[in-house]
Amino acid sequence: MQALLFLSFVFLVYFLLRFIINTLIDARKNKPNAPDPQQPDSQTMVRCAYCGVHLPQSEAYFDGQHTFCSEGHMRLGPKTQDIGGDSNTIMNNDDGD
Ligand SMILES: [Zn+2]
Repeated sequence: MQALLFLSFVFLVYFLLRFIINTLIDARKNKPNAPDPQQPDSQTMVRCAYCGVHLPQSEAYFDGQHTFCSEGHMRLGPKTQDIGGDSNTIMNNDDGD
């Protein structure tokens, strides 16, 4: 008799687990919790052609060729030095006399 009780208990647990797992899988299928890659949430970052600061494309100024962080930098135009370099040491302190 105890074996029968144990078996029924095992079956009960088994079906309960299956039900829970199926419910979880169905919930995941119905609810797209995963972030969609085509959502506008993930903004493209662009680089100011003048000062090199990175900003979202929606906030950037575009003159047709280059992107800028502000209208002022757009007027100044692109600073075509080393693009993509970390060292912005354009200034040469030449103290020659
Ligand atoms: Zn800028």
